Amino acid sequence: MPWPKRRWIHCPDMLPPGSTIGIMGGGQLGRMLAVAAAQLGYRCHVFAPEAAPPATDVCAAVTRAEFSDTAALDALTCAVDVVTFEWENVPTAAIRHVAARVPVWPAVHSLEVAQDRMAEKQFVEWLGGRTAPWAPVSSREELDQAIDRIGFPAILKTRRFGYDGKGQARLHGPADADAAWDAIGQQPAIFEGMVEFAHEYSVLLCRGQDGQMVDWPVPVNVHAGGILASSSLPAPALVRGQAAEAVALTRRIADKLGHVGVLTAEYFACKDGLRFNEMAPRVHNSGHWTIEGSATSQFENHIRAVAGLPLRPTDLVLPRVEMQNLIGDQADDWQRLFAEPGAHVHLYGKGDSRPGRKMGHVTRLSR
Ligand code: AMP
Repeated sequence: MPWPKRRWIHCPDMLPPGSTIGIMGGGQLGRMLAVAAAQLGYRCHVFAPEAAPPATDVCAAVTRAEFSDTAALDALTCAVDVVTFEWENVPTAAIRHVAARVPVWPAVHSLEVAQDRMAEKQFVEWLGGRTAPWAPVSSREELDQAIDRIGFPAILKTRRFGYDGKGQARLHGPADADAAWDAIGQQPAIFEGMVEFAHEYSVLLCRGQDGQMVDWPVPVNVHAGGILASSSLPAPALVRGQAAEAVALTRRIADKLGHVGVLTAEYFACKDGLRFNEMAPRVHNSGHWTIEGSATSQFENHIRAVAGLPLRPTDLVLPRVEMQNLIGDQADDWQRLFAEPGAHVHLYGKGDSRPGRKMGHVTRLSR
């Protein structure tokens, strides 16, 4: 088929192949975004403070600088056509600085809400979503008040900069309060009642610049020590029964934020219905299976959204999919994994396999 030149004339907002996409953050998510972008003919320029983050292996250009380095941010904006991010803790000041010069997708508002557990919970409750019972805590006295209101067992979570179970302390009784408050560094936090859930699952969707949305089939997620261990499909019946409601809520969240790109929302499947846990305004570990398991990966659709292209379908390729994270020394088993027929192995090029470090993942599909 000839190259559809006329389409460019009718869709002037599509980013032409050969353009450069800036990615704030250089972890494995940036690495997989850059691979998807390259497939569509785009170049990626990673901006990250680390010396050699995983995305640098597959990017056309890298700026190593702090997010507070405005001269480096200015230079980035001269080198790229559009910017996205792969880490939700990129300071909003850096995003605002860049967005004054080039388009940034998702826009800063998505980041602002997702960076603060309190803002996130209030926003989702305002949209009709149910969360675990929670209360804000900004002092040791407020922790006691929250305990009186909500009781035990509970988790104290920092409002900001928590991920993979970090910035959290569990409380089983009043005797744990002092230690929990110290463990989270006496920072502004939320006190959250533990909910009894049967499963955890996530909704991944992608919203385009025109408001068009696609969502992926919903995987069930298993965590170990606060870190995602696996995501698989089909999800159990309880999750499948709640999926439509969870997808509808996540779509409302994306619409109200005016989000552009992939948005992930994590849910608890409780016997009495679903509860929203948290969201990430970005591609997500629980969506890595989409690379081989879906007609279009989360990474490709995110790049499509950022580039103003139409989004593609998300149907399952085969009915059963399992993504297993390779954490710490699990990746040392690479010889056996590479030799396993049907195992789609992804290694992130990280040198040391420290405990709890995400080194790669493997996806298996079956009928
Ligand atoms: P988070 O960083 O908030 O996703 O928490 C990490 C993990 O801790 C979650 O994936 C759950 O397994 C568990 N968790 C967090 N909050 C709660 C809660 N309110 N009730 C029960 N388990 C929770």
